[in-house]
Amino acid sequence: MRISGTEAQPGLALAADVVVVGTGPGGASVAAKLARAGRSVVMVEAGPHVPASEMSQRESEMMRKLYYEGGLRTSENGAMGVLHGRAVGGSSVVNYLDCFRTPARLLYDWQRRFGLDELSPERMAPRFDAIEEVLHVRKLDPGNLNKNNDKLRQGTERLGWKGDTFHRNAYQCYGSGFCDLGCSYNAKQSAAITYVPIATQHGATLLTEARVDRVDTAAGRATGVRGSLLGADRQPRGEFTVKADVVVVSGGAIHTPYLLLSSGVDDPSGQLGENFYAHPGTPVVGYFPGERIANYEGIKQGYYIGEFSWVLHEHPIDVLIEGIGAPPALTSTILPGLGAERQAEFRRYNHYAAAGLLLRDYVPGRVRVGKGRPIIEASLAPSDAHRLRLSTERAAEAWLAAGAAMALTAHNKLTYFRSTRDFRKLDDVGWGIGELALVCFHQMGTARMGSRRDRSVVSPTGRMWSYDNLYVADASIFPTSTGVNPQETVYGLADVVGDGILDETRSAGSP
Ligand SMILES: Cc1cc2nc3c(=O)[nH]c(=O)nc-3n(C[C@H](O)[C@H](O)[C@H](O)COP(=O)(O)OP(=O)(O)OC[C@H]3O[C@@H](n4cnc5c(N)ncnc54)[C@H](O)[C@@H]3O)c2cc1C
Repeated sequence: MRISGTEAQPGLALAADVVVVGTGPGGASVAAKLARAGRSVVMVEAGPHVPASEMSQRESEMMRKLYYEGGLRTSENGAMGVLHGRAVGGSSVVNYLDCFRTPARLLYDWQRRFGLDELSPERMAPRFDAIEEVLHVRKLDPGNLNKNNDKLRQGTERLGWKGDTFHRNAYQCYGSGFCDLGCSYNAKQSAAITYVPIATQHGATLLTEARVDRVDTAAGRATGVRGSLLGADRQPRGEFTVKADVVVVSGGAIHTPYLLLSSGVDDPSGQLGENFYAHPGTPVVGYFPGERIANYEGIKQGYYIGEFSWVLHEHPIDVLIEGIGAPPALTSTILPGLGAERQAEFRRYNHYAAAGLLLRDYVPGRVRVGKGRPIIEASLAPSDAHRLRLSTERAAEAWLAAGAAMALTAHNKLTYFRSTRDFRKLDDVGWGIGELALVCFHQMGTARMGSRRDRSVVSPTGRMWSYDNLYVADASIFPTSTGVNPQETVYGLADVVGDGILDETRSAGSP
């Protein structure tokens, strides 16, 4: 059953065994597991349900509809754009479909440093097998690379570096190229068309356009949630409540700590909202004057350079370099230069091949509670900036090896390289706030999982330490940044949490 907050009676009062806040990969997959196991489940989602037929491929309309703050959210200091989906399915509706199982090296690191013994590659493998079945994850055939990604492949191979095509959660994708505006063909196997329907087919209720404002707790137990039904203008039009035996918070790594901190929950570690990891990314562009690249056509993210990744190949730079395509409005916000300089750059749009740097950040920011909204404190620490510089050089090298006339960065000061000798120009550009375009697509880590209550926000089963029945299942429970695209890790850890809920709440006497 689906109830829309724009139409529901103010004062709506629901009750269930479990209420799940948020329907991204974490929330949707936990809801599906619990509903399948026979629990009554209510899923509450602040965003709308947007079917494929309403995905218009219009940037101005879809960004407003599917993203927080229309895609214009930034960190408090303006250092970083923060893209975060707001719809049934969360960011999985707007993401680029790249899938990585959590790399073994990362799982060993989490075992060693955070006591997460259960997260061995062997124990996680059957979980990933099952998740990949639901999401229809397949490796992209190199023959389906678009021109942009194929150029990146050529450069990588000429340099003898390790690179590969992505695994993707797609079914019958013919590469319309509008992934970030939602898929008009239901080819993207987002949580909205996989796990959410599994949950509802097993009896779960989906309440959309309803924002949870508070988790209610009493005597070491969560008792339910309360919040606002939202009108079409996203403004509150009435209240609702859901009473539940178990509360699962899955609002993503910004809104989960925001909601829990606003609710005043007890966190013995003091780390709730800390350890915000962002994979700060910036584009590096190759200019191919005689060739039409049209990076926005076809499958936008098809190929990546893994050579410099620590989690994949133990390389100290610790970055993935991924082929990307960007629609015009987004491109205009990241192209270098101002005024006439930027206009001139834009005329070359069709001849630009683009790669995005996915830097594994080591120095985290944090999320705290502002006046009615989360505040994201993030910037680029000097040590991370140093590795970003080395990553920029590697991406530029790949474009030059692929035959680009020059490679460009997204610094405010127009910076281009015709050969590797030009890399010294990077000595003169800034890496500080506002000096280059930085974008966060991946929010992680603000309710860290671990085995010690004084050092982690949630237990190895995702339970907040001070409560019997309050769980977190989303990217906020990552102990660190992953260094690879995170969605499969979210599904994987949420699966662990779902089993934890079934074990722990069964023994506590819930149905
Ligand atoms: C443009 C873009 C491209 C990406 N590309 C990739 C990719 O190719 N591969 C990859 O692995 N990852 C990618 N990601 C990241 C990936 O999609 C996320 O890591 C993943 O969706 C996170 O899942 P989650 O469950 O933590 O939360 P989210 O997906 O953020 O979902 C949280 C949901 O909770 C809802 N919510 C929050 N607070 C409340 C509240 N108080 N009340 C009710 N509802 C609430 C939100 O509206 C949202 O729908 C991309 C992300 C973006 C934005």
